[in-house]
This record gives sequence, structure tokens and C-alpha cells, in this order.
Amino acid sequence: MRIVIAGGGLAGLTLAHYLNRHGLDVAVYERDADIAAREAGYRIHINSTGTSALHAALEPRLWELFLATCGMPSEDMLLFDERLNLRPGRDRSATEGTGVPADIPEHLVVCRSTLRRILYLGLEEAVHFGAKVTGYRTRPDSTITVLLEDGATVEADLLIAADGINSAVRAQRLPQVRIADLGSRHIAAKIHLTDEAKAKLPAELFNAFSLAYDADFTGLTLGPLERTDPTSPLIAEQDPGFRREATADYALSIFNSLPDRMLPDEELFTAGPDTLKAHALERVTGWHPALVDTVRLWDTATVQALKCRSCVPVDAWEPSNITVMGDAVHAMSPALGIGANTALRDAHTLGGQLLAVASGDKPLLAGIAGYEQAMRDYAYHALRMSAFVGQKVIGHLPLPE
Ligand SMILES: Cc1cc2nc3c(=O)[nH]c(=O)nc-3n(C[C@H](O)[C@H](O)[C@H](O)COP(=O)(O)OP(=O)(O)OC[C@H]3O[C@@H](n4cnc5c(N)ncnc54)[C@H](O)[C@@H]3O)c2cc1C
Repeated sequence: MRIVIAGGGLAGLTLAHYLNRHGLDVAVYERDADIAAREAGYRIHINSTGTSALHAALEPRLWELFLATCGMPSEDMLLFDERLNLRPGRDRSATEGTGVPADIPEHLVVCRSTLRRILYLGLEEAVHFGAKVTGYRTRPDSTITVLLEDGATVEADLLIAADGINSAVRAQRLPQVRIADLGSRHIAAKIHLTDEAKAKLPAELFNAFSLAYDADFTGLTLGPLERTDPTSPLIAEQDPGFRREATADYALSIFNSLPDRMLPDEELFTAGPDTLKAHALERVTGWHPALVDTVRLWDTATVQALKCRSCVPVDAWEPSNITVMGDAVHAMSPALGIGANTALRDAHTLGGQLLAVASGDKPLLAGIAGYEQAMRDYAYHALRMSAFVGQKVIGHLPLPE
């Protein structure tokens, strides 16, 4: 069975490891020019759903490398007002995973870019860069011709869309899936955690995750990442770019507001990082001084504007040998920090089904049907819960019906 994955993000690469580890034939087509072509995101929270999936997919050395590069923060995820008074806590169970604990804390934080680099190790022959998938054709014998932007084609028995929220494969396979703009705008940046920066940041914000917001749902997030074992020999044997990134401590900080209080979209998404930082700074004027300092500490080179979007759940569809995973089918509000965990769970669930297919335990379409049914159940639940919590703490729109 020739398995082709469109998209080499967290979901696609984790599934590729899982399949590769069990001897299945898998190839990944990724639009980026190479693994370091762009900084693929900031710090993300990983719970036991995500760690279980990674543990199942990664060979022991890569698993150890993952643990050395991630952070093990305090368990606290706290909410504040703009004067840094504590607000009532949110339901912690919403951010907890469903995976099997592997003798590590429930809440880890990882740099998305570092994790992606780790996921590439060992897959050098399976991953094709500079390969943007634009769609596919099905042939009379039900095999698939995958279409690439440069005109090349690839033959497959199974095509898996893991190409993120703007997925070309999902648009063709499931045109009924809509992407909703949840009407919240974000300006995100990194703060390098030097001793000087740490001295200026308030200790009460040094949790797994903290969000301070005012009565108008204008908010500021801080999520530190302090690497567990930067001196690990497993890091030392990687290339200089990997070593530099994987030993640097930083915090993710996000300023969020509603569109009518933010720069107009035309400006927000074209403005340079200086303008974006200046806007965030102006908007937190009068807040607790430590929150103002937090924005002042942003590394301007890392500032970027983001839009909060979500897939809208759809009714069950007939399974075929073209399936979907991760943000391609269930991108969600970032309010709970569980989008990547759910994408990793897809890799675990789909990988398990494909193993059963490969060993002759079930036909391919039964395996795909089993995965898609399970995925719709847990992923749509996570997506709806994220949208609900996002309404309460970010003030974004509800999911459209
Ligand atoms: C600000 C922010 C904070 C977040 N924090 C968290 C968190 O704390 N915890 C959490 O669990 N989740 C978090 N998320 C969500 C998480 O980042 C996503 O859910 C996760 O990255 C989805 O992984 P994916 O592999 O499905 O998609 P992606 O990461 O989007 O990967 C898709 C890949 O496909 C490639 N691609 C795209 N189009 C094509 C194409 N046509 N052909 C070939 N390749 C293509 C892309 O280059 C990319 O490599 C956060 C998201 C945001 C925006």
C-alpha cells in the first residue's frame, strides 16, 4: 500500500514516523523548501494525548530528544484582569489529555519549530520538500494521482490530507467543510528569557500559561518555555541550527482583541512588526506595569499578526481512500491549547487503523471508517469546547451553526 501524506506539519510527520516505524510505505509532500525554511510557530502546550501519540511514533532516541528540548512548567494555567488581579480559574480538565501517562508530567510545553525538526529526523528519505499539493485525481481502479504545483504527479493507494487549515486536498474531498472567522485578532511575539528579561517579568505570570484580559476582551498571554535539558548530548550531536534553537528559552506572548478595537485587517496583516508592537503597547497603556513591560520585552523581529479561525463541524461522510487529519479538518480556536494535541491524536488513531489494515485484520475502507468516526467524535468535541471557552475568555464569536 503506497501511502501519501500531503503536508509535513506536526500531524503529517508524526503519522509518517508511526507508519515508517512499522515498515509501511509512506511519503510526505511538504510545500516548504526545507525543514528550516520558516519558523514554524511558537511554543505549544502538549498534554498526555499528545505525548502518548509522540511516544508511540518516535523511536527511543527521538523521544529522549523531544523530552530534552521541551519544558516542564508548573501546572498552573491562570486568568487575571488587566491589573493582575486573579480571576476565577477555568475548568482544568478541559486542557487535560486522554493519553496514557509515560512517567512524565501531564502538561509539557514545546517549541513547535523544534518539535517539527525532531519529527523530520529519520524521515529524510520519506519527506519531499518544495512539493505543494494542489489536488488529486481518482483513477478507475480507485488508485489516486496526487497533483503537485510544479506539474509533477505521484501515485498512491491512500492519500491523507495533513496540509493545515487551508488544505487543498480537504477542499476537494470535503467541500462542505467551512472555515469560520471567529472575529478575534492576535499579535504574537517571542520574549527571549535572558536573566534581565526574567527579572522584569512578574513571577505570578510564570505559569504553564497566563492570560490577563479586561472587560472588553482585550488580553495579553504569557507562556514561558524553559528547556528541560539543554546540555543533553542528544542535542549536541544535531546541526548548529537545531542546537541554537533547541537550547534557547523564550516565552510566547500574544496580545488579542476584537476586530473593531484592533487595527483594521488591511493594516493589521500588512503592517511591519514595529507598527504591530507599537499598537499592542499603546493598547495596554494603563494596565499593570508588569504587563506593559511584558509587551516592551517582545523581540520585534518575531512579531506577527494572526486571525482566529475554526473549521465548522459537518455531518459524517462516506469513507474513501482519501482521508483528512489535523487542522485540515478540525482547526480550532486556540483558547484551550489542544489543536495540536488533537492533531497528534489523529496520527495515533489513524496509524493504529492502518497497521491493522496492513496486517490483514481489516479492509482499508473499514480502517478509514473506524478512524474517521473516532476522529469526528473527539475532534469535534475538542473544537466545540475550544470555541466555547474562547467566547468566555477571548470574547470571540460562537461557532456558526
Ligand atoms: C497562536 C497559536 C497557538 C497555539 N497553541 C497551541 C497549543 O498550545 N497546544 C496545541 O495543542 N495547539 C496549539 N495551537 C494549534 C496548533 O498549532 C495546530 O493545531 C497544529 O499545528 C496543527 O497541526 P497540523 O499538522 O494539522 O497542521 P499544520 O501545523 O498547519 O501543518 C500543515 C503543514 O502542511 C504544509 N502545507 C500546507 N499546504 C500545503 C500544500 N498545499 N501542500 C503541501 N504541504 C502543505 C504546511 O507548510 C505545514 O507544514 C496553536 C495555534 C496557534 C495559531
